Amino acid sequence: MSKYVESVLKDVKAKNANEPEFIQAVDEVLMTLDPVLEANPQYEANAILERMVEPERVIMFRVPWVDDKGIVRVNRGYRIQMNSAIGPYKGGLRFDPTVNLGVLKFLAFEQVFKNSLTTLPMGGGKGGSDFNPKQSPHTPGQRCSDAEVMRFCQSFMTELFRHIGPDTDVPAGDMNVGGREIGYMFGQYKRLANEWTGVLTGKGLSFGGSLIRPEATGYGDVYFAQNMLAKRGETLEGKKCVISGSGNVASFAAQKLIRLGAKVLTLSDRSGSILVKDGINEDLLNEVMNLKNVKRGELSEIKSAGVQFFPKVNSWQITDAIDCAFPCARQNELNGEDAAYLLKHGCKLVGEGANMPSTPDAIEQFVGAKIMYSPGKASNAGGVATSGLEMSQNSERLSWSAEEVDTKLKGIMKAIHDNAWEAAAKYGHEGNYVVGANIAGFTKVADAMVAQGVC
Ligand code: NDP
Repeated sequence: MSKYVESVLKDVKAKNANEPEFIQAVDEVLMTLDPVLEANPQYEANAILERMVEPERVIMFRVPWVDDKGIVRVNRGYRIQMNSAIGPYKGGLRFDPTVNLGVLKFLAFEQVFKNSLTTLPMGGGKGGSDFNPKQSPHTPGQRCSDAEVMRFCQSFMTELFRHIGPDTDVPAGDMNVGGREIGYMFGQYKRLANEWTGVLTGKGLSFGGSLIRPEATGYGDVYFAQNMLAKRGETLEGKKCVISGSGNVASFAAQKLIRLGAKVLTLSDRSGSILVKDGINEDLLNEVMNLKNVKRGELSEIKSAGVQFFPKVNSWQITDAIDCAFPCARQNELNGEDAAYLLKHGCKLVGEGANMPSTPDAIEQFVGAKIMYSPGKASNAGGVATSGLEMSQNSERLSWSAEEVDTKLKGIMKAIHDNAWEAAAKYGHEGNYVVGANIAGFTKVADAMVAQGVC
């Protein structure tokens, strides 16, 4: 590790000691940048790393709202505006009790590189709240009602609206923020700003949403895997795949894999994992999507024939013939022990759909084994890329067909793959998508920052 990287990392660790996820994300990126920093001394001379690890702005605010029993509740809201060198801040909003400053800073930092990789002009941001829509504050075991979620979203946007805008910062969904929440927040923004603009992405189709946006992260993850396999002259046909999660990313990754002839063996959620030895078919997948998105239930409730349920475990170690793994639930959900198990049981491809789902120990094993391993910032970039396409459609006041958006998404995922591949090869790490994605994402932002002077 160079002295420059060492000193920046030391500083990041000292200044952000209580933000382990942020330190982990910064560490993972900076450790791979030495070759490009050596070849480009202007980056150190312009303090690019020091500036990249410091958010341009952090907004933290009170979110008061009234529950169905008339009791006043207070949550904490955040927006991290990390880097706007190449475009307006762009990144999702997450509502989950695990949300805190460090988690959102890690996500915003990752988002800067991811957005740069998409080839579109988008800076990086992230936000959210520790609000838990899956647990009513007054009735244990019950979810918040739609009315409670709406009141929360309206209060959240009442503060956020003054910090965002179609040319400033364009939030989207993330964990527990889907079409319902985006709709409520968009409605409130429109009232407060008295304007109809594409200020949020992931909107409903009747008010400016893009076809294929809900599918885009999961589909994009699978398209990236196709590109990795194509390099080795292989396809997904017949491949046995394990997937974690059963939310937005996981379910559409599963749908695309099934349609491409792969065998999807598992899905998971907080209650546990389901395993279908012969492969989950589209009927069962539709049942899961209905359960998660409409009934808002858990996988333990699935009773269909051929489905085995494993309570409170993730998908990695419940079957023993595995070609590909797609972690699509949350950060640090695949550890070193899981990685060793996957490698031992034949896994040759890991395509991250979630953000930072593999621990550093797991990544080291995947890279060491030279399997096809794509970090989330590259392989899950299809979601934000399609958000970028939604912004273009809103600005044009036009809606593109599903085929048009899907074709663009495929093209973007291929471009991300090829850029990461070429950047890795250029700096002597052929086939290492971690190095390639970090360097390719970094270079574009760093060059823009140098060109814009010290700001
Ligand atoms: P969802 O909320 O739709 O789904 C999240 C899934 O993860 C659910 O199945 C959830 O289970 C499961 N999960 C969450 N926490 C835990 C836990 N502690 N233990 C076990 N399972 C858990 O989110 P998304 O699908 O949108 O996002 C998934 C990941 O992908 C996140 O890392 C997100 O940042 C990333 N991502 C999402 C994008 C998007 O477009 N949506 C874009 C790029 C990245 P349960 O239903 O029981 O809560």
